[in-house]
Amino acid sequence: MSQLENKVAVVTGGAQGIGAGIVERFLAEGVKVAVIDVNAEKLNKRWSEAGDELATFECDVTDGGQVKRVFEEIYSRFGTIDILVNNAGITRDAIFHKMTEEQWHSVMDVNLTSMFHTCQAVIPKMRKQEYGKIVNISSVSSWGNAGQANYSASKAGVLGFTKTLAKENGGKNITVNAIAPGQIDTEMTKDLPENIQMMALMLTPAGRLGKPEEVASVARFLASDDSSFVNGECIQVNGGFLMA
Ligand code: NDP
Repeated sequence: MSQLENKVAVVTGGAQGIGAGIVERFLAEGVKVAVIDVNAEKLNKRWSEAGDELATFECDVTDGGQVKRVFEEIYSRFGTIDILVNNAGITRDAIFHKMTEEQWHSVMDVNLTSMFHTCQAVIPKMRKQEYGKIVNISSVSSWGNAGQANYSASKAGVLGFTKTLAKENGGKNITVNAIAPGQIDTEMTKDLPENIQMMALMLTPAGRLGKPEEVASVARFLASDDSSFVNGECIQVNGGFLMA
C-alpha cells in the first residue's frame, strides 16, 4: 500500500501536460485528487472517468473569489486537503522592449498571484491540522531567459514565495517546495520556434525533452513523507540543462 493512499490532493492546471502527469501519478498511488483547470470542456474530456477518487473543478486561478469558492467545495467534498500542487502556468513571450503590459500582467497573474489565492485557501487549515505538502512549479527560466522577462520574473518569484512559506509554516509540519523543470514535452513547448527547441536540446546533456511523468515522480516525492525533512527547496528536473 502506498503511503499516499487516501491523501487528498489539489492539482491546478491538471487538464493536460505536467499537471495531468501529476494527477495520473497521484491516482496510481491511491490519492484522491481534485483537478482544477480553466476550461471545463477540456478538463472533463481529459478526466471523463471522474468518480469517488477524482473530481474536476472549472476555476480560473487568477480570480481570488473563484478560488475561494472552489476550495470550499473541495473541502466539503473530500473533508481535507493534504497536498496542493500549484502547476497552472502560461507563457506570453516577447523581447522585453516589445513586451506589453497585458503580457506582463497575465503571466504574473497565472504563474504567481494564483499561488497567493490557492495558498490562502489551504494554509490556515493545514496549520490547524498540522500537516501539509505544497509543491509549486517554477521553471529553469527563473535563472533568466531572453524573451521571457515576464515568465522568468514570475517563476523566480515562485522560488521566493516557496521559501518564505516554508519558513513560516515549517513548525506546523508543512513543507513547501518547488520544482524547476527544464524543457518538457507538452502543449506549452510544442509551438516554440524550431531554433529555440534545437538549442535547448543541444544544451541538455540528456539530448531529449523531459516527459510529464518525470516531473510527476519528483512531485510525488515532495508530496510524500519521503521528503519530510526537505523544505524550502527547489529540485531541478532538466536533464542536466542547468547545474547549480
Ligand atoms: P500546459 O500549457 O500544457 O498546461 C497548463 C494548464 O494550465 C493548461 O491546461 C492551461 O489551460 C491551464 N491554465 C492556464 N491558465 C489557467 C488559469 N488561469 N486557471 C487555471 N488553469 C489554467 O503547460 P505545461 O504542462 O507544460 O506546464 C505546467 C507548468 O509547468 C506551468 O506552470 C509551466 O510554466 C511549468 N513549466 C513547464 C515547462 C515545459 O517545458 N513544459 C518548463 C518549465 C516549467 P489552457 O491551455 O486553457 O490555457
